[in-house]
Amino acid sequence: MSSYLVLARKYRPQSFDELVGQEVLVTTLSNAIKNNRIHHAYILTGIRGVGKTTTARIIAKTLNCENIDPKKSVQACGECENCRLITGSKHQDVIEIDAASRTGVDDIREIIESIAYAPVSARHKIYIIDEVHMLSNSAFNALLKTLEEPPAHVKFIFATTEIRKVPVTILSRCQRFDLRRLDEIEIAIHLKNILTKENLEAEELALSLIAKASEGSVRDSLSLLDQALANNNHQKNLPTDLVEKMLGLNDKNKVLELLSSLLSGDFATSSKIFNEFYSYSSDVSHLVQDLLFITHRITSSKLLPDYRLDDCSKFQQNKIHEIAEKISLNSLTRIWQMLSKGVYEISFASSPKMVFEMLMARICHLVALPDLKQVLLSTNNDKNTVAQKSDKNNDNLIEDILRSFEGSKLT
Ligand SMILES: [Zn+2]
Repeated sequence: MSSYLVLARKYRPQSFDELVGQEVLVTTLSNAIKNNRIHHAYILTGIRGVGKTTTARIIAKTLNCENIDPKKSVQACGECENCRLITGSKHQDVIEIDAASRTGVDDIREIIESIAYAPVSARHKIYIIDEVHMLSNSAFNALLKTLEEPPAHVKFIFATTEIRKVPVTILSRCQRFDLRRLDEIEIAIHLKNILTKENLEAEELALSLIAKASEGSVRDSLSLLDQALANNNHQKNLPTDLVEKMLGLNDKNKVLELLSSLLSGDFATSSKIFNEFYSYSSDVSHLVQDLLFITHRITSSKLLPDYRLDDCSKFQQNKIHEIAEKISLNSLTRIWQMLSKGVYEISFASSPKMVFEMLMARICHLVALPDLKQVLLSTNNDKNTVAQKSDKNNDNLIEDILRSFEGSKLT
């Protein structure tokens, strides 16, 4: 089996044109390099896994590549000695510091002392300080003087997940770039391109599910893709159900099955499905949350004809539409209330399993009740037939009773 990070490593971007989704940074920096107006300090911020360190290395490479002619292009060649050494984090003029482990003023002093020396083999001496917000106050103060007037050959690239913790005095001396997380469609397209390069294919929904699960991080999406390919024994086509299983999404089918049997008032089947769940997870509140989630989906697709269920498989989409067609909005909102109440009750219960079983019984019981409205209307109609007249007052009374009555049948 191939190693877990194969794709994430293989397709780590190496130059500006491979940096997906960060157009603002690429354009601004490309122009700065072309016009020889390079700032002395940059700060990159964004969520974990968005590519801050990778971007910092690309900037370092672009500033130091031996084969760049700014008049023609600003793509680091990736082949010259500087590029290769920076890619491998081995260039002695590109110093990478993890502020999470070197937070003290002495660490920073060491850096400041080395700044005075000219670069050994590159054009610029570049300090990449990751998680810069972790530096202590005294370390920031020591850094500040250098940031005000660094030697011409020195550039700083800071990276942070928590820009608010970086002192304003530091921020005001840096050019800031917010690396944005990619949306699901961008990630899915990126994954598809990579698979094409690998001569592999995947079902569209399989890639959307991975893209959704990676929450905007390209690195996470590639790790998940790697894992899925390994699970699939690196066969040519990656199917959706395998990805669903891997991400724990095929539980959704079971939840739908459970809800559907509850709605047909079938306590025995419901109980059987529930016991299957319970045999591998005693987290009943999670199950109720899943039921709430599906109920919300069914309600939305009932109310909104264009409601999209993109993260559900075809089977799930059909099932949701089928239930939405059969069940009334009134019943959906009542099931929602009962389940919501169930969440609360389960959180305090000494036996969540028992509470859930009673909840299932309540839902099934309501389904089995005769439809109160029909009962009242038919009684009224029988009476009207005998009296040979229509009594509007009775109709209104029935509507009033139904409005205030909470326990009628689920339809
Ligand atoms: Zn190069």
